Amino acid sequence: MNTNAFALRHIGPREDDQNLMLKTIGVDSLDQLIYETIPDDIRLKNGLNLDEPMTEHEYLLHIHELSKKNKAYKTYIGLGYHPTILPAVIQRNILENPGWYTAYTPYQAEIAQGRLEALLNFQTMVIDLTGMEIANASLLDESTAAAEAMSLLFAVRERDQKKAGVNKFFISDNILPQTLSLLQTRANPIGIELVVGKEDEFNFSTEFFGAILQYPGKDGQITDIKSFISKANDARIKVAVAADILSLVKLEAPGKFGADVVIGTTQRFGIPMGYGGPHAAYFATKEAYKRDLPGRIIGVTKDANGNRALRMALQTREQHIKRDKATSNICTAQVLLAVMASMYAVYHGPKGLKFIANKVHNKTALLANALEKLGYKQINTSYFDTLQIKTKAKKIKKLATEKKVNLFYPDSETVTISVNETTAIRDINYLISVFAEAAKKETIVISTILQANNIDSTTQRTSDFLVEPVFNTYHSETELMRYIKSLERKDLALNHSMISLGSCTMKLNAASEMLPLSIFKWANIHPFVPEKQAKGYLTVLKELEDQLTEITGFAATSLQPNSGAQGEFAGLMVIKAYHESRGDHHRNICLIPSSAHGTNPASAVMAGMKVVVTKSTDEGNIDVDDLREKAELHKDNLSCLMVTYPSTHGVYESAIKEITKIIHDNGGQVYMDGANMNAQVGLTNPGNIGADVCHLNLHKTFAIPHGGGGPGVGPICVAKQLVPFLPGNPIIKTGGDQAITAISSAPFGSALACLISYGYIKMLGAEGLTESTKIAILNANYIKKRLEGSFDTLYSGERGRAAHEMIVDCRPFKANGIEVTDIAKRLMDYGFHAPTVSFPVAGTLMIEPTESESKAEIDRFCDAMISIKKEIDSVSKDDENNVLKNAPHTLEMITANEWYLPYSRETAAFPLDYVKENKFWPSVRRVDDAYGDRNLICSCIPIEAYVEA
Ligand SMILES: *Cc1c(COP(=O)(O)O)cnc(C)c1O
Repeated sequence: MNTNAFALRHIGPREDDQNLMLKTIGVDSLDQLIYETIPDDIRLKNGLNLDEPMTEHEYLLHIHELSKKNKAYKTYIGLGYHPTILPAVIQRNILENPGWYTAYTPYQAEIAQGRLEALLNFQTMVIDLTGMEIANASLLDESTAAAEAMSLLFAVRERDQKKAGVNKFFISDNILPQTLSLLQTRANPIGIELVVGKEDEFNFSTEFFGAILQYPGKDGQITDIKSFISKANDARIKVAVAADILSLVKLEAPGKFGADVVIGTTQRFGIPMGYGGPHAAYFATKEAYKRDLPGRIIGVTKDANGNRALRMALQTREQHIKRDKATSNICTAQVLLAVMASMYAVYHGPKGLKFIANKVHNKTALLANALEKLGYKQINTSYFDTLQIKTKAKKIKKLATEKKVNLFYPDSETVTISVNETTAIRDINYLISVFAEAAKKETIVISTILQANNIDSTTQRTSDFLVEPVFNTYHSETELMRYIKSLERKDLALNHSMISLGSCTMKLNAASEMLPLSIFKWANIHPFVPEKQAKGYLTVLKELEDQLTEITGFAATSLQPNSGAQGEFAGLMVIKAYHESRGDHHRNICLIPSSAHGTNPASAVMAGMKVVVTKSTDEGNIDVDDLREKAELHKDNLSCLMVTYPSTHGVYESAIKEITKIIHDNGGQVYMDGANMNAQVGLTNPGNIGADVCHLNLHKTFAIPHGGGGPGVGPICVAKQLVPFLPGNPIIKTGGDQAITAISSAPFGSALACLISYGYIKMLGAEGLTESTKIAILNANYIKKRLEGSFDTLYSGERGRAAHEMIVDCRPFKANGIEVTDIAKRLMDYGFHAPTVSFPVAGTLMIEPTESESKAEIDRFCDAMISIKKEIDSVSKDDENNVLKNAPHTLEMITANEWYLPYSRETAAFPLDYVKENKFWPSVRRVDDAYGDRNLICSCIPIEAYVEA
């Protein structure tokens, strides 16, 4: 046995431990356990057909070699992606630091104050630069943010009596091409009519409810958005502005002109292009629309001692609660990237950002002058960083490409050049020499940068930004390093202890999988470069598609969606396109079991479908009779079923093949939510159970870290009949030959993050992947056994086994006055992050250990749970002053001179011996959610400021 095989590093329990665990469970072998867990008729007969596994060392050599096939030319393409400088202190202390990248979405606020603060900084930065009142903590990319802006304006139009029912939306023809494509994807199913046109020819007719502008335009021209917005306001047309974040340093904030929504990407705040992503988009709007704002909002509140504390605010807006009433399905966002972009602003501060923006602008102006001197016609009259040259594009393209320079060529008469933070004088001179050669003229050499101002006075910035202390304090490396560390210490991540979040699959994110993200030739490739320059990427992405196609038992894969929820939407749109290709335009009924994740109904509504909910049985399974009845009732209009497998109840339903057959017999397609794929890989697959399309959450099953709430990658895998409709991109050809329009900005979504899953599969191989699934099931069933007698498991398979996760019932403890939240908070005192709270059943915990956790760690967790059960037994409803209700306990409480609580300090802080060895201190006491929602504050002003007000 190769003791250094990656599988042995990825999988937690050693062989001896596995035997002990099997014995505890009461089975003879792992195979017997699997036999008792997964129904026979869906087991795969043959193993996966994948390459032999590589060792970690072999993989790193391999990925380094492949990176050389990517050509990192000087790139001035623009269109929403720019070379940028990631400060090394941020790279090392955040991007390459598991304390940041392995954290989960900050639902458990008391052990997440660090990333909550970084995200509050992000929101503050966005609010300041856009001039808006409220911002969220990131969306998936600029184009989806634009689509969310359109949806928001569409949703709120009903409150304006004159606009109710109005369905036209104006798009400036200066919008980025990928954004236009995405707006098309999202408008059609919900009944929005798009009109694309020139801003200065728009008639502000009352038939429009909204409009979107690009600021500066895709060609670099800055238009007079001020008068556009003012005329639109007069006609009650709401305006969204897609704004370049760096240009906002020099351009007046759209909020000052009365914009209703401002969106964009924060990529150029230090985030590598990564061949398209991941990057954080921002979304800012007016306070009046706070309940319509998509995504997560971080807000300020107070804890049980009245101290300032942060948490995710206004959660009732989200799809988890609103389901088919939600206007957005976003769940996983881009937290890690938002944290990094916010730190870029913290590091540079307002002065540094002005310096960078001025540098970019001045160099652009110098380049313009030189090109004009060479006889070129530059037609942008007001610009920030992008020039538009009227010339024979073909000739320039040929020469520039030979000289390893990428420009953008929108048509045969036009070349655009976008200057960026990395552009040096040397680069400007090189660009000039290329144009000089094309014109057969002597080049012009520039040696000094002059102050320039080519921004029209109507749009020049006069308002302040980033005046808060956090953006004006940490400008030396030592200071920033310590600030980042101080936040990191407040957050519990996988480098401290197991995070057993059911449905979220918090497994190991191996260092070898992560290292390649820092390699220059993976990080610095623009998504719209010619394919010849991206051979390394195209090789990896093609192979990853093939690997996932094999694992799901389907025919093809699209990597474009940037999250599971976006994959759901993509999959449903593909199903819709398939039905329509057969003339079935009317098929719009989507059956969804009651236990489904909230994103399922939200995605269905976005895809223009009507949700029909089907019942569950008492055992937690789909009620097959009810499903059949509804499928037959709607058979003329049935579009699809959305089903999670194994179910969200943690069971491999044995009727699954019957269920998928019922849907097919009634003319529908089957969408499988692949969040639980960690219970299938190598043992069964979606194709085998009769599904037609599924999404995968690469950030769950395939080892991409959760990043504190993103990035995610949510590819869709499809059966043969759906392949032609896989999503495309307007610039780089991808997808099927009857491709639906774009789902994400970039042709391959978050390509850089895809490297992680590629490495995961490469290093585990067929056997390691299958073994991982088996051990995930072993670990779950071991926990189930160990908790027996303390906690009841709600559902099991027919032979009494759990799948890879289980739901434990906490509702009976209400008799002692204990709620499931009290258990979640008390677990913090034991050094653990709570399992998933109240999904899919209110009042329960869903536990998923994954294969990466060792027996020792699982035993500590079980000891903690059992100890908490004893605590529950010892308290009563009549006395709320107990160790559970007061949890979590902070260091400040424990070390206070006075101690009045009816239990000891040791019981509070060190309830079991293991805790003493490695204590994690929650940094605040229990946060008050309701107070924060009533007094919503989403930026960095001190709490006193409004308490006094
Ligand atoms: C995580 C999850 C989703 C949503 O995935 P995101 O990547 O967060 O968008 C959908 N369904 C289920 C069952 C999930 O667990």
